[in-house]
Amino acid sequence: MQRIYYLLLGLFMSSFVQAQDCEKAWMHYERRVELSQRTAQEFGVEVPIEKIQIDFLGAPVGIPFNYTTKEYSPYSDHQKLEKDGNLLLHKEANRSLEDLKAIAQQVGIELKLNNTYRSYSEQKHLHDKLGGHQAEKPGYSEHHLCTAIDLKNVNNKKFRWLLQNAFAFGWVPSYYFREGTKIKKEPWHWRYVGTLAAKKFRCAWELEINRCIWKLR
Ligand SMILES: [Zn+2]
Repeated sequence: MQRIYYLLLGLFMSSFVQAQDCEKAWMHYERRVELSQRTAQEFGVEVPIEKIQIDFLGAPVGIPFNYTTKEYSPYSDHQKLEKDGNLLLHKEANRSLEDLKAIAQQVGIELKLNNTYRSYSEQKHLHDKLGGHQAEKPGYSEHHLCTAIDLKNVNNKKFRWLLQNAFAFGWVPSYYFREGTKIKKEPWHWRYVGTLAAKKFRCAWELEINRCIWKLR
């Protein structure tokens, strides 16, 4: 009897926590989109609505100025990648990356990581060192989200393979197909957004992606 009581209590508590999480994520999402759009307007950038996608954590994808705040912390679900130099990555993103790595390996492609999570101060250091054309301002980087990765040695062959395969695993090249950013195109930068948002992203950029795959032959 007592066991059933605990089970029911657990169920009730988890649904309560889940509802709260959704509310919080939605609140931040609205604020992030609003801030991103306002900043885009200030910089004279127009972002077509069909290019804006929302990732599995409720954060906007494919718009410039991804404002991230300290309160918005999906990082609670991160894990350390011991094999990859203790880098931090969201659990779900890591699971999907492992699957992607496995199928890449079958065709002789190695997906190794250069970078994953970056803190505000790490981003500040990078921005000061590289400047605004190669690094976002601190607080505006997708690397704060714990779902973005920089891959090692992305040549044409690897990038082409990723464009043909990674969307199905929930990954998008969010700094390659992007409206109005000052940052140069980055074929090595991929962000895990979940399979649904990745599919939508693929559709929104269909022409550009197909053209790119064709050019990389
Ligand atoms: Zn990056």
